[in-house]
Amino acid sequence: MNQIIFVAFFLQICFAFDFNKYNALDKIEKYLAIFNRNQGTVKSKVEIIGKTFEERSIYMVKMFTKRKTRCGSCKGKSKKAILVDGGMHARDFISHAFVLYFLNFLKTTQAGFYLVKKFDWYLIPVLNPDGYEYANNFERLWRKNRNPFNETCIGTDLNRNYGMQWDPENGGSRNPCNEFYSGPFRFSELESQAERKLMLKKAFIGYLSIQSFGQLWIYPWGFTKDPVPDKSTLDKCAKAAAAAATTRHGVVYNSRQTSERSTLGGLSSDYAKAAGIRFPYEVLLRDKGTFGHLLPEDQIIATCEETTDAVIAWVNCVCAEMM
Ligand SMILES: [Zn+2]
Repeated sequence: MNQIIFVAFFLQICFAFDFNKYNALDKIEKYLAIFNRNQGTVKSKVEIIGKTFEERSIYMVKMFTKRKTRCGSCKGKSKKAILVDGGMHARDFISHAFVLYFLNFLKTTQAGFYLVKKFDWYLIPVLNPDGYEYANNFERLWRKNRNPFNETCIGTDLNRNYGMQWDPENGGSRNPCNEFYSGPFRFSELESQAERKLMLKKAFIGYLSIQSFGQLWIYPWGFTKDPVPDKSTLDKCAKAAAAAATTRHGVVYNSRQTSERSTLGGLSSDYAKAAGIRFPYEVLLRDKGTFGHLLPEDQIIATCEETTDAVIAWVNCVCAEMM
């Protein structure tokens, strides 16, 4: 019986959704609805964590196992959770694509099941749906959300808007027309507010903000060149992830502290660290600038495969370091 349900679920996904392309928002939302039926070994539930300026819903998919046991091989009194977001920046199309691929991986594969046994997963495939819809239909390289400052200047860079050392003078901008506009104040935006609420509500052990591009795993701090107290641990797990990604297809990934080249204020990964999430990262997917944000669709699957390998290696490292 279980197998029949599994196959039925798999077929539904196969017919309904094409992982080889960058899907429009309506297709993505239809696909996400499948995860609310809660069938199969890996349980899943869809929640709306907030609304945007244009009144779109921000969806989150929760993945968990039926029994609330301690996580597989990870030690700890209770099962911990991991938060993953995609599409913070509208134009990072490979980021949305990866989170959707990874949802399917968690739900339908044995390796995915092991990851869900270790941790509960909270995944936000499209954190900035207004921006994604706009980028898809009008301006492919749009980065910000769509909250207007005035008639001509629209949008805030969400990854400058979080409340840890929010500072437009530090890698952001006070100019609402600028691509890196930090917003009028910390957490001024509905999208960053929605994620903050989630970060504070749940005791997450890890956070991955999936972005592009650069083939890079980076970790706090970003706002200062100073290291976090547990830098060596964060670095170790970033290195493990980057090495695993590189092994898959020979495409080289690296890792470092976010601020190694220049400092940036108001980052989501810095806020996550300050909020008590021990293992927060920004993961920059392919490529290194050849196509940049316009990564061709024929590279989607390979990027998703190597990044899945990276996340598995990262989970194993986090588990080992939790002991
Ligand atoms: Zn980005």
